[in-house]
Amino acid sequence: MNVGEGQPLLSIPPAMTVRGVSFTYGVRQSPSVAPVLDCIQSVIPSGQIVGILGPNGSGKSTFLKLLAGLLKPRKGVISLFGDSLEQLSAREVAKRVAFVPQETLQVFPFTIAEMVLMGRSPHHGGWGGWHWEDREDREIATAAMQELDVQHLGNRFVTDVSGGERQRAVIARALAQQPQVLLLDEPTAFLDLHHQLDIAKILRRLNRERGLTVVLVSHDVNLVSQYCDTILLLHQGRIIQEGAPGAVIREEVLQEVYGCSVLVDRHPQSGLPRVSLPVCG
Ligand code: ADP
Ligand code: MG
Repeated sequence: MNVGEGQPLLSIPPAMTVRGVSFTYGVRQSPSVAPVLDCIQSVIPSGQIVGILGPNGSGKSTFLKLLAGLLKPRKGVISLFGDSLEQLSAREVAKRVAFVPQETLQVFPFTIAEMVLMGRSPHHGGWGGWHWEDREDREIATAAMQELDVQHLGNRFVTDVSGGERQRAVIARALAQQPQVLLLDEPTAFLDLHHQLDIAKILRRLNRERGLTVVLVSHDVNLVSQYCDTILLLHQGRIIQEGAPGAVIREEVLQEVYGCSVLVDRHPQSGLPRVSLPVCG
């Protein structure tokens, strides 16, 4: 649907907008310290899958944490469907935005079912007002486990399942939050090919069937090329390219950003850009 400029009430607002955002770690802002993110401008359209690419240390995880409201910009404004994150409480943000961090070693022996149910916590009055017996919460958590095919693992401890199963369970917990925006930091790192494809298909299904806006950070340029509508390419704390895979995944762009030669051809099925490394030698 093409909504004209004269009908602003009918237009779908972007899921998130990022205006002039800069961020530096540390309490003291020394002018000699270069910001980790520098004057970022971006729009995350509603209903898209957006991929964030960039070399190690380029600021991808920091950017995702800013979108999740876990870090606050030093400068600039981030909005969620038109509401400034600054004006929303952490709980209000968590009702609308779910964040799946990079895999960290789970040390607490929760069961998968308990962990997924914890995704409901933003919808309650805090841990003190938590009702474990709330039927609706259990139904939502069960549906999320079914969606991610982990319901049969409900009684297993999160420490005692495979990496692929744990990743699906963590995404189920995020879905139990019933978010509008799902943010994931390297969701396929450490997974084998089958499980990488599995996660990519799940994210696409959630996006297509539920209209969930998905933002994912990945080092897997090919996965991002195949599955993302828009790609943001970060380099030294700035977005240096933003657009459809065909516009961003180009040899000269990747060579400049990653500092090595790459070959870009077309995926035989999708025709989208495919990246390979040259033979050494
Ligand atoms: P990426 O995810 O792209 O690898 P990060 O956002 O993790 O990059 O890091 C960007 C920069 O910020 C790096 O130089 C990193 O060392 C620094 N950094 C990340 N987290 C912290 C932190 N908690 N405290 C201080 N510096 C940090
Ligand atoms: Mg990172």
